[in-house]
Formats: sequence, structure tokens, C-alpha cells
Amino acid sequence: MNKTRFYLRILLAAVGACLPGCATHSPTQPAEKIEGFTDTPMEPGGKWHVHDPARPQPQMVTPGVAFSQGAPAPSDAELLFGGGSLAQWETVQGKEATWKTRNDFMETAPRGGGIRTRGKWADFQLHLEWASPNPPAGTGQGRGNSGILINGMYEIQVLDSYNDRTYADGQAAAIYGQSPPLVNACKPPGEWQTYDILFESPRWNDKGELIRKAVATVLHNGVVVQNRYEFNGCTDGISDVVPWRTLSKYPAPHSPAVFIQLQDHGNPVRFRNIWIRSMHLGENS
Ligand code: MG
Repeated sequence: MNKTRFYLRILLAAVGACLPGCATHSPTQPAEKIEGFTDTPMEPGGKWHVHDPARPQPQMVTPGVAFSQGAPAPSDAELLFGGGSLAQWETVQGKEATWKTRNDFMETAPRGGGIRTRGKWADFQLHLEWASPNPPAGTGQGRGNSGILINGMYEIQVLDSYNDRTYADGQAAAIYGQSPPLVNACKPPGEWQTYDILFESPRWNDKGELIRKAVATVLHNGVVVQNRYEFNGCTDGISDVVPWRTLSKYPAPHSPAVFIQLQDHGNPVRFRNIWIRSMHLGENS
């Protein structure tokens, strides 16, 4: 930019205007700094760094009031949590789950560790409801952070992304570090929100070669936010396979039957009405 254009831009900024091509924001509000990283590897496609703060923020959509809230489990589903008992869950060390339960919900025991299902499923439909703390505390990745960690390897982010920004591939309903949600369908803090997740497990052949990637479709409060997304591999920061802020890759072959883990990220996030059913893919063809 030449000097004249530089000073012209300062002058225009002072009166709340903006030159074509520069970032636009309200003249009464300073541009918001979004947390993120640009010293991380480039994602496949070469457009964005892992957790790039410049990756576009998904558009906000106001979801319908209830959608699948309180949806009773179908007859062929397994109820993983309906209030009270955590019998279907254990710690990641295989011990009795210690998260707090109250009425019809359970709540993260911050810094007490995540919990995972005792059961495992391949190619499943998962319904769950979650609520982030109200009043909210913290910002960005520190604001109501939890996650659905499939097999402890593939994270669908849980975060309070209602009027709060973070790197797009780390906001609510993102495939963490890989795929921002198509839109931001978050409800305000404290309100119950639904995830309806269709997950297809990855497959390897007898030689240990990956022949099918993991695939997820996610509805957040009834709005499609991931549509048959094919994972690049394990998401970063939740397993030894892919350290935080590094590129995803697949682990050694594992069984298609996988457990569901709820993340303890130090924030008191609530969960209720969790059920799962096999999709029986290929069984009738
Ligand atoms: Mg998380």
C-alpha cells in the first residue's frame, strides 16, 4: 500500500468508512480479535491453517424452539442416560463414572476427567442434549467447552458459540480442527440444545490400508451443520495419535465398534437424554 492510500485509509477509518477490500465492521465497534493460530500446518486443500483465526465464521442461524428436545428413544435404541444412573458410563480409566447427576441431567466434574460409554457401536445414530453454563464464564475455547469424542479420537465440538467467537474449526458443532459447522445454530447459554449425529466408522482392509474414512452428519438444534463430512483422521488434541495443533491422520486400524466419550475440558457442561441406535447399514441390501 502506498503512503497516500495508507493515510487515506486512516482518514476514512476515522469517519467510520472503509476502502473496498478491507475488513468491514461497525464504526462504533472495534474489529474483534479472534483467537487462533497461523503457525500451525496447512489443512488439506492448502487454504487454512489448523485453527486459523481468519477462516470464515459460519453464519448465525436462529434454530427452531425445540426440534428433537426430549425425543424419546426409538424401540431399537439403547438409552445411555435418561437421568439418575450413570450405569452405562465409566471413566476413561475404566472406573465408575463420577460426574454429578441432578434431576434429568448430568454435569461435567471439571478436571475430574471425561466419561465414556461401556458399550460400543459401529455406524450409529446418536441423540443427546447439552447446555453450557449460565451465566457464561470465559471466552473462546474456555467457554462451555466439552465434546463428543467418538472412540476418544474423533471430536464433534461442544462449546458456547452463542455470540462468542473462536477459530471456526473449533466452535460448537465443528469437527475439531477440520471442519467448521455449515452455520452457527447455537442457542444462548443455559438453554438445552440438541445434537443428532449420524456416524459411520472408518474401515481398513486386511492389509491395514484405510478403505473408508469416518463420516459424520450432524444436526445442531435441527439444523444441518455437517453433511456427510469425511474425517481427515483423528481430530487434534484428544489422543496421542494427533497432538493439539497438528494435522489429522488416521490411527492404526481399529474395530468399527466404537465408544462415545464426553469430554471434560474444565467447564461445567450439562448433558441429558442420550440415546444411540445402530443404523444397520448394509444389512437389508
Ligand atoms: Mg472440546
